[in-house]
Amino acid sequence: MHLNSSLPKFVFVELTNICNFDCTFCATRIMKRQKGMMDFNLYRKIVNEAKDIGINNLNLWLMGEPFLYPKIFECIEYAKDKNIGVSLITNGSLFNAHFFQKFFSLDLSNINNMIISYHTPNKETFNLRNSKEIDFNIYCEQISRFIKEKIKHKTSFPLEIRFLINILEFEFAKGIPNSYEKIKDSLHFIGEINSKFKFPTKKEFEYYNKCNDYFRIEIIPDLYLRFEQTHDWNKIFIPQEAKVVPAKRGYCKFPFDTLGVLWNGDCTICCVDFDGEINIGNASDCSLREILESNGIKEIRNNMKKHILSENKCQYCKGMLMNSSRKSAGYYKKLLGAKYKRSELKNELYRLKEYLCNKYRKK
Ligand code: SF4
Repeated sequence: MHLNSSLPKFVFVELTNICNFDCTFCATRIMKRQKGMMDFNLYRKIVNEAKDIGINNLNLWLMGEPFLYPKIFECIEYAKDKNIGVSLITNGSLFNAHFFQKFFSLDLSNINNMIISYHTPNKETFNLRNSKEIDFNIYCEQISRFIKEKIKHKTSFPLEIRFLINILEFEFAKGIPNSYEKIKDSLHFIGEINSKFKFPTKKEFEYYNKCNDYFRIEIIPDLYLRFEQTHDWNKIFIPQEAKVVPAKRGYCKFPFDTLGVLWNGDCTICCVDFDGEINIGNASDCSLREILESNGIKEIRNNMKKHILSENKCQYCKGMLMNSSRKSAGYYKKLLGAKYKRSELKNELYRLKEYLCNKYRKK
């Protein structure tokens, strides 16, 4: 039945907020809310209700490592039975023989996208994951094996291998590649998958680095590398000397586009709201339809349309980063101000994306 409210494009269902890594660049390490796993009955309820209101894809995460959830395979199958697609993200640490046997025996046709957060492709940077259970070489082998198994099983879902780059030289991601040479060096494994693949030139990479965004390159059909700048979780990881002056006015499309259901059923409108501060209801107590049609979300959206930031979290997120002398901290200027004026930046970014898309689409 039609929803009397705009339908979010991105629905996150956090099966668990527990993670077996403790990455220095992830908000999991400062998350204050209780850790836990979603009740499987609640998951089924969410899928049924999502179907009822016309949502056709669920991202099975918000925080946490989804493959730690004991019924993850049942979750994929249940969504498939209801004709709902799922997108998955993983750090890849749980890719063992049992996993491969189970995962590739599933009907994977409802997987719309899978992301492996590889991020730290060498020994030095792998230390930033603070993994207690897995050695770097085994980790690499597992990811490499996943890619090979995917190719062997001829699965059609897009797989994105994500890498962080630390051009802004954030302290919390120290060691993450920040130069073309280091990034290129750490990706020599690609040759095993496609010996003809040509890595972007230094000029292309530097061009990209002028723009605070991400891009992805297709290595073979349905297998992509995606590079993205480390981010500060909307001003959570900021330098000690900096502070945020909250903004009262501003605009963000997340409240219109996003619904996040945390493992305990609490709902938010933001995928970076890692502590669930913007609470718009609980999916155990009411339906997704009731939550999306509730006065709480309507008020946030109506205010947003008038460029009023009603939530503290949003005021902070859109606030201004200042240093102790109340001058703009200049923290991001290094990147954005390096070559282009702000007004020119959008055009440059657009031109670069077009160029890279055309170049790599032909392969
Ligand atoms: S905290 Fe608010 S302003 Fe920031 S991304 Fe989330 S919804 Fe948008």
